[in-house]
Amino acid sequence: MGGKTTLVYSERFLDYNLGPLHPLRPIRVKLTHDLIQSKRLLNGDTVKITTPRVASEEEILLFHEKQYVRLVQKYSERGSGLLDAGDTPAFKGCFEATSLVIGASLEGCDAIMKGKFDHAFNPSGGLHHAHPDRASGFCIFNDAAISINYLKTKYKIKRLVYLDIDAHHGDGVMYGFYNDSSVLDIDFHESGKYIFPGTGFSDEIGENEAKGLKLNIPLLPGTGDQAYLKAFHKLVPDVVRKFRPEIILVQCGADGHAEDRLAHLRLTTNMYREVVSEMHSLAHELCEGRLLLFGGGGYTLANVPRVWTIAFAALAELKLDNVIPEPWSREFHNLSGEESPRDLQDAPTNDDSKTTGEVDNVLRELMSYLSA
Ligand SMILES: [Zn+2]
Ligand SMILES: [Zn+2]
Repeated sequence: MGGKTTLVYSERFLDYNLGPLHPLRPIRVKLTHDLIQSKRLLNGDTVKITTPRVASEEEILLFHEKQYVRLVQKYSERGSGLLDAGDTPAFKGCFEATSLVIGASLEGCDAIMKGKFDHAFNPSGGLHHAHPDRASGFCIFNDAAISINYLKTKYKIKRLVYLDIDAHHGDGVMYGFYNDSSVLDIDFHESGKYIFPGTGFSDEIGENEAKGLKLNIPLLPGTGDQAYLKAFHKLVPDVVRKFRPEIILVQCGADGHAEDRLAHLRLTTNMYREVVSEMHSLAHELCEGRLLLFGGGGYTLANVPRVWTIAFAALAELKLDNVIPEPWSREFHNLSGEESPRDLQDAPTNDDSKTTGEVDNVLRELMSYLSA
């Protein structure tokens, strides 16, 4: 398969900082970059860093409403105020910080569409909860949704796949394109019965021409690798092949990992490696390798950099051993005050019959809505 891969990265991603006590810690993105670097994945030949640009206001308006953009600018100057009901506080410079996150995703789109790279990863992106007129769930602007509209307008993309494996439902993206038949949106997440934002049930399959193109797979708390991957393999390759995308986008939130502080799934690095590898193969099979990977949630620092390093290596088709390099361990400890993880990769989790049975039920339900 092969192909060239880029990591879009800047130390200025650290500016997306919602406060010292906020669960979204920007240091996770730096620790990811540093782990990728210390594992020597950036070989300077097929795998390279791209420096992001700042998105323009016109680009932000591809998805967001002018009034809301003005509000973010005002609060950003002032350095205070809440951008939603309470989870997403404004901070000084938040407009510039979130514009850079968007610019990084758009830089990824450009790198791929201009043929400079086949695959790109923006670990600061995947802010999938933001809606056209408001912030939500730590997301000020929705870089994934803006990327979709950017690909459609600038590159005349007619069919794209957006897969979202964050533990939370990607509501901003899904409802933003609920009527749009150019977007096949597949979203695996912990069921909205148990977790924010409380949406994404299997009867939500899109509307009008887009009916059947929005697929939700809500999962029970405690779902592990086996049940997850069974559902993934049963559903995803077939629907993606049938849709024939011109580019594939994957939101790779790391909060589905076991022991995440804000979610209750029990996934391991094995699930992330397998899902990204499969999407990578599909991209080479169907759309000349074009694949854009976003970060997303992830609230346990010991897990996020490992998950994203493994996802990035899967994209670049590079083998990884299990060693966490000593200098990175020290840096992790110094920056986080927490114990460094011991191994890069986890042992897979098995599932109990309850979560496995429930995944089968959800797939059956989904199929019945799709064929109705
Ligand atoms: Zn490739
Ligand atoms: Zn999440």
